[in-house]
Amino acid sequence: SLFARKPFITGNWKLNPSTKDEAVALATGIADSVTADSPGDIGLFVPSPYLETVQKIAGDKFVVGAECVTPETAGAFTGGVSPSMIKSMGIEWALAGHSERRTINKESDDYINSQCKMLIESDMNVVLCIGETLEEFEKGLVDAVCEVQLKKGLAGVSSEEMKQVTIAYEPVWAIGTGKVATPEIAQDVHSICRGILGEMYGEQVAEDTRILYGGSVSPDSVDGLMEKPDIDGTLVGGASLDATSFGRIINFV
Ligand code: PGA
Repeated sequence: SLFARKPFITGNWKLNPSTKDEAVALATGIADSVTADSPGDIGLFVPSPYLETVQKIAGDKFVVGAECVTPETAGAFTGGVSPSMIKSMGIEWALAGHSERRTINKESDDYINSQCKMLIESDMNVVLCIGETLEEFEKGLVDAVCEVQLKKGLAGVSSEEMKQVTIAYEPVWAIGTGKVATPEIAQDVHSICRGILGEMYGEQVAEDTRILYGGSVSPDSVDGLMEKPDIDGTLVGGASLDATSFGRIINFV
């Protein structure tokens, strides 16, 4: 293969679309764009109420995951959605640490670490999202922020368990802003993150772990990003809500 790691193109619907009928139409359009020639693995992170419906539509064309989980098995956690609940529905993936969860829901690195560990213990896979704010970017703190978020998010996760972990680098200033990081900036940070993984887990794990880029990825920017050696895929928000756009991203060249 041209790629050291198989590409992984993923979408994150966030709080969209507003109705199940729209979710069915969108998921169907996305499934239709996946062909035997699509170059990577594909994943779609969707609101929990739509998981089963989208999973049925996905078949073996793409994996479906939750956007966040409650890192508890059961109990008095009103509104919670546990890894075991969704695992029992056949769902094997979830995001953790998305910047919107960090900011709006005040999820700390410790809490995100619990989510990662609970997903891993439940034999599921996690996409751990990390990334700096605009202020941190302007102050030159990108490396430091990524290091802290990786080390705290993955605390207690073993080398063996890293098979269940994907990293998504999402600079907060690029999320939903239309300001995609240049391929050069993203490549730099991805390479730094891979170096940090190397320090934490050794060369082999660092080489095997997929690091996705997220933040205003579009049909226009995907090809340039995917040319870079340390960019192994994408986490797409806005453009995953349009089947034609996301279909073009899935079938990047
Ligand atoms: P965006 O979102 O593609 O709309 O910038 C990315 C994300 O938040 O995962």
